Amino acid sequence: MSLEQARSWIKRAQSIIGFTGAGISTESGIPDFRSSDGVWARNRTIDFDEFVRDKSSRIEAWRQKVAIWHEMREAEPNSGHMAFVELARLGKLKSMITQNIDGLHQRSGLTSAMVLELHGTTLEVMCLSCRYRIPMDEAVDRIKAGEQAPVCHHCGGILKTATVSFGQAMPQDVVRKAENAAVSCELFLAVGSSLVVHPAAGLPLMAKRAGARLIIVNRAATPLDKIADLVVNDEIGKVLPKMVEIS
Ligand code: NAD
Repeated sequence: MSLEQARSWIKRAQSIIGFTGAGISTESGIPDFRSSDGVWARNRTIDFDEFVRDKSSRIEAWRQKVAIWHEMREAEPNSGHMAFVELARLGKLKSMITQNIDGLHQRSGLTSAMVLELHGTTLEVMCLSCRYRIPMDEAVDRIKAGEQAPVCHHCGGILKTATVSFGQAMPQDVVRKAENAAVSCELFLAVGSSLVVHPAAGLPLMAKRAGARLIIVNRAATPLDKIADLVVNDEIGKVLPKMVEIS
């Protein structure tokens, strides 16, 4: 019944905003943060200030990144990602807002212009001083060759994955685009996010207040379920493709 309802709303909507969290990529083999087998069950969180202040924390942060890099790099988009590609093909998807840092929406075929990465990307590494970027592969090779916490070859600054850590400023241009997208859509489709990380989790609320329908697809309950028009508590790869099968 709820899938039928979702399918009918998606069919009618001309303007859909997709919003994804780590849950859409678990079926590609990338663990999320908050599930019992997620990243937090295995790793200590290092916030931005600690990363900048303390070399041993940088070494630990890089150790964690290198440990998951292989599975992140080899991961392939799954049927959940492809459901959003279908919405784009139909001309309905206007922007794909994601909290994810794995680049799988672009790998699935969405254009870079369409994907708004609120928390950056782990495919690149950026110097915190001169903003010079290198590919993650290059940083990982340097770490494997013995540099425990690599520094910028141009200016000697601290290198960090081009992601937004806790305590680090969000990319304001991307946030603005995401907010504009959220308040001007007919349907906001939030998929695979616990909807507790702010300010990202405020976007579904903004969309709803601006008059959009809100559909949440997530295995676990979220704090925004009570304001959603429809909540589907199921596996994304199973239900999302069915929701967009509308032709
Ligand atoms: P989260 O871990 O807080 O929540 C993920 C949610 O997805 C959970 O509620 C879980 O129940 C649900 N879920 C997991 N697999 C699912 C499936 N197959 N079907 C249905 N539901 C499923 O993740 P979040 O809300 O994105 O916030 C955490 C932060 O972690 C984000 O800011 C993101 O930057 C970062 N992160 C990203 C990745 C990635 O890029 N793939 C991975 C881990 C963490």
